[in-house]
Amino acid sequence: MKQPNFVFVTGGVVSSLGKGIAAASLGLLLKERGYKVTLQKLDPYLNVDPGTMSPFQHGEVFVTDDGAETDLDLGHYERFTDVTLGRRNSVSAGQIYDTIITRERRGDYLGKTVQVIPHVTDEIKRRMVETAEESDADVSIIEIGGTVGDIESLPFLEAIRQLRLEVGARKTFFIHVTLVPLVRAAKELKTKPTQHSVKGLREIGIQPDVLICRSDTPIPQEVRNKIALFCNVPNNAVISAPDVRSIYEVPLIVHRGGLDALVIEALGLQGDKPLDLTRWESTVRDILEPKEKVCIAMCGKYTHLQDAYKSILESFVHAGAANGVQIEVKWIESTEFETKSPQEVLEHVDGLLVPGGFGERGIEGMIQAIRFARESGLPFFGICLGLHCASIEIARNLCHLEHADSTEFNVETPHPVIDLMPDQLKTHLKGGTMRLGSYPCDLAAGSRAREAYGDERIRERHRHRWEFNDSYRQPFEEAGVRFTGICPDNGLVEILELSDHPWFVAVQFHPELKSRPDRPHPLFRSFVAAAIVHRTGRVGAGERQGHDSPAVSEKSKDSSASDEEAGAGRTTHA
Ligand code: GLN
Repeated sequence: MKQPNFVFVTGGVVSSLGKGIAAASLGLLLKERGYKVTLQKLDPYLNVDPGTMSPFQHGEVFVTDDGAETDLDLGHYERFTDVTLGRRNSVSAGQIYDTIITRERRGDYLGKTVQVIPHVTDEIKRRMVETAEESDADVSIIEIGGTVGDIESLPFLEAIRQLRLEVGARKTFFIHVTLVPLVRAAKELKTKPTQHSVKGLREIGIQPDVLICRSDTPIPQEVRNKIALFCNVPNNAVISAPDVRSIYEVPLIVHRGGLDALVIEALGLQGDKPLDLTRWESTVRDILEPKEKVCIAMCGKYTHLQDAYKSILESFVHAGAANGVQIEVKWIESTEFETKSPQEVLEHVDGLLVPGGFGERGIEGMIQAIRFARESGLPFFGICLGLHCASIEIARNLCHLEHADSTEFNVETPHPVIDLMPDQLKTHLKGGTMRLGSYPCDLAAGSRAREAYGDERIRERHRHRWEFNDSYRQPFEEAGVRFTGICPDNGLVEILELSDHPWFVAVQFHPELKSRPDRPHPLFRSFVAAAIVHRTGRVGAGERQGHDSPAVSEKSKDSSASDEEAGAGRTTHA
């Protein structure tokens, strides 16, 4: 078995500096140099996983193939490195304590006092080493959640300090991501917060090998030298990582700063192949140089927290780039429909996406929005809860099933078109008990889904309790609905489409979790292509507004037909 190397990524000064993107970027660079990598996120909170946390607290819950509900950074890891991760790659303090307390109750500690050191730190180390070994990685990149100085993250930092002693300095590498703020009044970049953060790390016995310094603008060499001097690292180990327009630029920036070379040298890695980033660079160019915009409405429940829809927004970036456009997202709170007509809210958009969500709030607004999309020919993409809302809308307004509903919102409904599966009825525990992870789905010939995927059988990831109720298939089919994706394992409806609509597709799974920058998800790609066609019609109908909305190019028209061409695009948030 290989002796894995460990790269630890910690964060200082403030949160949200992009540690996850830094870890993912290094993962990509090492993978492209021919090394096998795995990535792991260690989160200091006491929840066993983020599955039970509100999206307002935690952002998106990223689901892996093996059905783990994980931190959204795993999404970045998978998107950047294209390595499929799983349950063991996301560890929380809750899981660590859960394991230890179970052992303690079993009597495994044989009378000993159970303590943070060594029992908690041993369990953290065990999980880090096992994950690296099981994935047969040359390098395991491990991100420690939180910020240095947090009480909660101390046991994790102590564990990585110990691990360096145990496996040897040549097998470990410490990256610290910090902030170098610009004090505008003094027109000066300030290094003190970074100095303090590194001081905090050194006090607990960790000397970082590299500092990735985040700032608004590039950090000049003399400032980097000063940071190096005060933080006890060589000058070339202070890497400037200024703000960028697209997160996909970060690997290129840290590579230019020498990050992968420093890691390879320090770990004594051998046998790397020459780095070729041409493909990645061309994707970044496509993202940064869109030729035009299309506007897609997102009508969801957590619209003022965009982290809640991280993977969907990234899927738009990928699909936009492939279609030569930038996706402008119009966020719609479904309460808007209480005061405005759907026509007013949606008339200037080119597509409607209703994403996943939980609970009753806002549902009636989403149903109104979907009705408008169905009746007016606006491309519609429903994801999970979006499929539930589409089913309710179709049941009520096309099948004339009065008061049709999901039993998630109304247990008394006379027409439970969306209902719990029998196994969910028996479930009382909330954590980790939904239908989770990857399931197969067979696609019907001649369907939009089959055309988009170009495949008969696909696999997609799930996270939900409620399902389309099979006993309503017939009235739906009579009303023009095609059930175009069925799970071969259990016959469940996974995709429904309307054949007499330009693009109306609702899916029970979460396609956004499998989109990659250079391999956009087929359904997102096809949806964006349909939105471009819709926009052409809208602009043609005299709705064109503003100088930033150039006419649809021939290229985009072609791409909507063939779904093949690569162009440019990125997502903004209107
Ligand atoms: N609340 C719905 C369910 O549990 C949908 C979940 C989702 O959209 N992820 O089935």
